[in-house]
Amino acid sequence: MKSVAATFATMSAAMVAAVVLSLSACAQTRTGVAMTPAALSSTAAPPSSTVVNLTRREERAVFDGSPDNFTGRVRVEMLLTAHSPDRTSGGSVTFEPGAHTAWHTHPLGQTLIVTSGVGRVQFWGGPMREMRLGDVVWIPANVKHWHGAVPKTSMTHIAIAEQLDGQSVAWLEKLSVAQYAGTPEGAAAAATAVTMPTPANPAQPSRAQQLFGDVAPGLAQLTDDVLFGNVWMRPGLSKRDRSLITVSALVAMNRPDQLRSHLALAQQNGLTQEELVEAITHLAFYAGWPSAVSGALVAKEVFKAP
Ligand code: MN
Repeated sequence: MKSVAATFATMSAAMVAAVVLSLSACAQTRTGVAMTPAALSSTAAPPSSTVVNLTRREERAVFDGSPDNFTGRVRVEMLLTAHSPDRTSGGSVTFEPGAHTAWHTHPLGQTLIVTSGVGRVQFWGGPMREMRLGDVVWIPANVKHWHGAVPKTSMTHIAIAEQLDGQSVAWLEKLSVAQYAGTPEGAAAAATAVTMPTPANPAQPSRAQQLFGDVAPGLAQLTDDVLFGNVWMRPGLSKRDRSLITVSALVAMNRPDQLRSHLALAQQNGLTQEELVEAITHLAFYAGWPSAVSGALVAKEVFKAP
């Protein structure tokens, strides 16, 4: 309490009044907090801009997700409503096991903060990612995606998005059963932007099969089954971390052909262009300036590709 009092001593009277207002709900139990008589004795109704907007849990709206936009049982508890000029709204969304959103986009992006359970999130054409308690997911603006629980466990996340012209979401078609299950049929339907090998998919030759399957079919098979079907799927590291490690190794070894593919895959796995450039810059001091410059030139080429 000493530090709180010391902090208050450095504040202006207006700041103290604002802090006291924010503490008023629990003032009875915090008798040690030093409050100024002026702040406590004011009986006139304050301007609305100084009244703290505090809603109790039991006052908040809780509703079921519309079956038009969700599969399975989904409960939404509104936490944030946009107060002009603020345009941010959000809520806590609980998905029962197997429940999930339809495909959708957000005009200015969305942040998901997982507060319990285990879920899935996937961008159109990208790999399905598992998300757990404490994970934070950023969905960029206008990126088609879905999120929800895994089949056998429920998941709750806080979802926060900024509105554009009063809208924070644009709903699209629902997932097929195969898309939610992540089976090859579902992967093929969502594979338009996939540029790297995925585990063997009879409907579409993998990137490895396309590149060298004719001359080295065994190597292509091992690449699909062991490297991308097993090593990359191991849960000990996230795919984002595996991409950062792989890109770093390829820059250090000066392997532009493989780096080209992996810079694209790294972005699908959640690394930003800024982070990849920062990694290449860092590597100049460990792998040598020429390797970093070669890597930067490959990155320039990959980032410019549509
Ligand atoms: Mn979303």
